Amino acid sequence: IKGEFKKALPVLETLQKAGFEAYFVGGSVRDALLGKAVNDVDIATSAFPEEIKRLFKKTVDVGIEHGTVMVLMDDESYEVTTFRTESTYQDYRRPDSVTFVRSLKEDLKRRDLTINAFAMDNDGVIQDFFNGERDLKEQIIRAVGKPEERFHEDALRMMRAVRFASQLGFQLEADTFYAIVVNAHLLQNIAVERIQVEFVKMAMGQNVLQGMEAFFTTNLYQYCPGMSHGKVALRRFSLFPRPVKKERHVWALLLYFLGIQQVKEGAAFLKHWKLSNQLITESTRILELILYRHHSPLNHYKVYTFTPPIVWETEDLLELLKLPCDKRAAANLIHTLPIQSRDELDINGRIIMEKTNNRGGRWLGEAISMAEKAVVLGAIPNEQQAILEWLKESKYI
Ligand code: ATP
Ligand code: MG
Repeated sequence: IKGEFKKALPVLETLQKAGFEAYFVGGSVRDALLGKAVNDVDIATSAFPEEIKRLFKKTVDVGIEHGTVMVLMDDESYEVTTFRTESTYQDYRRPDSVTFVRSLKEDLKRRDLTINAFAMDNDGVIQDFFNGERDLKEQIIRAVGKPEERFHEDALRMMRAVRFASQLGFQLEADTFYAIVVNAHLLQNIAVERIQVEFVKMAMGQNVLQGMEAFFTTNLYQYCPGMSHGKVALRRFSLFPRPVKKERHVWALLLYFLGIQQVKEGAAFLKHWKLSNQLITESTRILELILYRHHSPLNHYKVYTFTPPIVWETEDLLELLKLPCDKRAAANLIHTLPIQSRDELDINGRIIMEKTNNRGGRWLGEAISMAEKAVVLGAIPNEQQAILEWLKESKYI
């Protein structure tokens, strides 16, 4: 027991001293056994939510209806979840009710994959009822129990199986694989937001070629938004060098490989995927810049309007795409940008109105934009007097 687990030991021990069972569960235990870095440890316990809350000074109800209480201790927070089973799945989605139980085995049984269904106690001893450790060693993705039933309960598990194949480079076990082939269409019942999370993790996986192969051969991709004709784009995307550093790169590259040339069209596609507006804007801006860079060089104004991070990341993507790029020029332009934003402009609407004795209006916004552009491009220095003179000469005021 070390690292994040060690820090969380007092939580386990408090529960145990009160007579409850408590274990580390889920992805953190899997990642620890794989020798990977662990950040969030999840804890499962036989204590019911009210009992958990009574034992700790500071708690937050984060998902009490699912049995999850956040315990705050020594500047850290831990999600502590009561052992539970899930019942009455409707429409192949998440269950509409959970039942708290006192048995670890019952709790592990409702988990998706064997490699996610073991628990570790405070001595580092693994409780493994479904041969998860063996599958981890043999690099196999296998559903807990009967795959067909488990995918009927929650069809998202099929996406999760494929995304772990991509992250870990594991093979899907034959029955699990076949059950996905047969049930792939059930993905239609799942909220796109949930599919998106798994899709991004799959797309960013270190072993994406393997994951993507499973995504294709099981036909899961057919049931993702806008993907039914996306096989070639996805294949090209998965040949892109890893790691893909940011989520916005996933989407920008996908749009690019799909051959989308218009920001509007790209935004509509991403809207179907239920991305946040911010992510849509960032991703389509990168696409726009990739396409712009096919025929034109950067300048200060491009760097200013697209913002340095987007410009830098795009040059990086262009390089990895083996397309013409100029990182040196980009770095130089970024470093020599006269201003970063409009706030830094040595003039504003109030000053212009004072100096011209004019009331505000459309002309004012235009004047500011022109001054901004002139300063960014280095045509005039960022000094009030110089800007005012230039605006007068150019008849903007
Ligand atoms: P990651 O490292 O990406 O967070 P994870 O395995 O921790 O991977 P989470 O989504 O955080 O994935 O879920 C935590 C645990 O909850 C899983 O390890 C698994 O045991 C269980 N779980 C998550 N989603 C499902 C699901 N749809 N069906 C059954 N069990 C699930
Ligand atoms: Mg997790």
